[in-house]
Amino acid sequence: MSGATAEIRPGERPGRTPVPFVRLDAAEPERKREILAAVERVGDSAAFTLGAEVEAFEDDFARWCGAAHAVDVSSGTSALELVLRALGIGPGDEVIVPTNSFIATAEAVTAAGATPRLVDVDPDTALLTAAIVEAALTDRTRCVIPVHLYGRSVDMEPLLELCRARGLRVVEDACQAHGAVYRGARAGTHGDAGCFSFYPTKNLGAWGDGGAVVTSDDALAAQLRLLRSHGEGTRHHHEMASGTHRLHALQAAILAVKLPHLDRWNEQRRAAGATLCEALSDTVVTVPAPVAADGDHVFHVFVVRTPDRDALRKHLADRDVATAIHYPTPIHLQPAYADLGQGPLPVSERLATESCTLPIFPSITDGELASIAEAVGEFRPRG
Ligand SMILES: *Cc1c(COP(=O)(O)O)cnc(C)c1O
Repeated sequence: MSGATAEIRPGERPGRTPVPFVRLDAAEPERKREILAAVERVGDSAAFTLGAEVEAFEDDFARWCGAAHAVDVSSGTSALELVLRALGIGPGDEVIVPTNSFIATAEAVTAAGATPRLVDVDPDTALLTAAIVEAALTDRTRCVIPVHLYGRSVDMEPLLELCRARGLRVVEDACQAHGAVYRGARAGTHGDAGCFSFYPTKNLGAWGDGGAVVTSDDALAAQLRLLRSHGEGTRHHHEMASGTHRLHALQAAILAVKLPHLDRWNEQRRAAGATLCEALSDTVVTVPAPVAADGDHVFHVFVVRTPDRDALRKHLADRDVATAIHYPTPIHLQPAYADLGQGPLPVSERLATESCTLPIFPSITDGELASIAEAVGEFRPRG
């Protein structure tokens, strides 16, 4: 344990490494220097919205994902909203959304003027399946948003088959799954479009908000470029009313520094995930289900389950292991969506009470992983 002091704070035991929930760019000082140089370059250029930095990062990100186009926008939520609008989805239309997700997935549907149809998830993967979608179809269903939640890829092929047969659009929410591979292709490239967030803690994070849509549909990409900036086709000519959803050049420049390291960071996350799954297999918590042979998990977060979740979190906090909950309230039970009157959705409701998110990030050390395993191993549920 580097940088340790002899002092032992209350609640901390000798020899234990406190484990933070996440460590961002400060973990790689060299990267931080490169980022600061990019910030200075943008400052000197005084071109702050869209422009060359954004175009360069769009090319890099599209190529990295394996899509024809990337259209950078101001957030992951904007990415989802603008894709729905570009696809002509709006009032009167239903969009199927897993209730076990970050609320943004549903909010984008609402912002587009359509209605989210919140559905349950598979108990093993916590993700949407084709069977769940099929059971929820109505004659107003226009689109499905599979969410590669936690970084695990949804089983896309049966879902795509179902949606093709019914003429439904598929918009992937890949905000937690940059680089997760399914049947040889990366998240975001399976459906009509894939949406990404560059919120600072995501697998690829900016120094502020940011997002992108990837697609191989030329017309959709062109429509998104209009929608992200006031529907402005040529100077002062506005094709449609839209708004400001642009990515800042500063964020694009920062993301361009970080992208070449993303495969390595995802590999570090996968390795840490495998270590934790193995180390926690004999404990009382349920570890993430094994990854399907044709799927992937890039461990944006590492979620375990136990009926005694709140006691586990307290036990870990007492041992200086930070935790979180993804997510404590399913979307259909949020006040924002109470008026839809959807549910009960029992699998997601149970996940909300039993899930506990443990620390995982690329620079997590063997000592930190051992501390997590040891602390979880000492947990004894009351039941
Ligand atoms: C982060 C996230 C979003 C929204 O991204 P923002 O950039 O914060 O708007 C959407 N869906 C999921 C699953 C996310 O994790």
